[in-house]
Formats: sequence, C-alpha cells, structure tokens
Amino acid sequence: MVEAAYDTDNIFAKILRGEIPSHRVYEDEAVVAFMDVMPQGPGHTLVLPKAPSRNLLDADASTLGPLFKIVQKVALAVKQAFGADGVTILQFNEPASGQTVYHLHVHVIPRFEGIALKPHSGGMEKPEILAENAGKIRAALAS
Ligand code: 5GP
Repeated sequence: MVEAAYDTDNIFAKILRGEIPSHRVYEDEAVVAFMDVMPQGPGHTLVLPKAPSRNLLDADASTLGPLFKIVQKVALAVKQAFGADGVTILQFNEPASGQTVYHLHVHVIPRFEGIALKPHSGGMEKPEILAENAGKIRAALAS
C-alpha cells in the first residue's frame, strides 16, 4: 500500500514554523519538544525531529539518532520534574496504529504506580497547567 505524502500544513509543521503556539521545553538544530495539549498524564511531552516525515516509516534514518537522544533526555527530565516512578514512550504510525498527527513524534509520559493513562487525544488541558508543567521540565533539563 502506498502511504500518503507528507502534508506541510499538518499541525506540528505549523508549530515548528511558529505559526501555532506551543509550550516548548527543548529545541536544538534538529529536534523540538513541547507539551501535548491533550495529555494522557501530567507532563506528557512530545519530541519531534524538525526534518519532515509522516512518521517512523518514511523517516530518514539519520534523524532517528538525534531524535532518540533527546527522547532519553526528556524522559529523564520528566521523571525528575514530576517525581515519576517510570516513563512510557509511545510512537504511532498511520491511522490503524492510532496516529492522528502526521509529522513524526514520540510521546514521553511520566508514570506513577497504580495510575492508568488517560485516553489518547482525550480532553484539552488548561494552558496555565501546560505552562506550569513546561516550566518544571525546563528546570529539570537545566539542572
Ligand atoms: P498521535 O496520535 O499522532 O501519536 O498523537 C498526536 C498527539 O498530538 C496527541 O496526543 C494530541 O493530544 C496531540 N495534539 C493534537 N493537536 C495538538 C496541538 O495543536 N498542539 C499540541 N501541543 N499537541 C497536539
């Protein structure tokens, strides 16, 4: 099956271009991380390569090393920032898998013993909560 082409107007492409706001916690020449607006738990962060691809399946392999280096960095930061017991890493490819935004991204979600994840793409979080959580993660990244 031939997958659809990368859509340069997908919501994360717009965020990367600065056309839509986000609560950014990290940025370098190749990778950006910001808060998920419909978090499955407090501190749910998305890590994206700046290079365009729909998902992992069509990504240039050279983007994956820098991406996962920052996934690990953000995972350590959210664990510290929220005093989490663990961290779940999720990544979806194409609609059948649950992907809803078609720019490669990795979910980094702090986890707590006995507390289940909220539904994927569930309710919108308040902007002030996202801002507060982003501040905690930035502080952990800087420590
Ligand atoms: P996917 O299903 O594609 O792996 O996940 C897309 C994620 O993006 C979902 O968790 C959803 O909550 C999040 N999301 C959707 N729209 C926006 C948005 O405009 N801004 C941010 N920061 N996250 C979004």
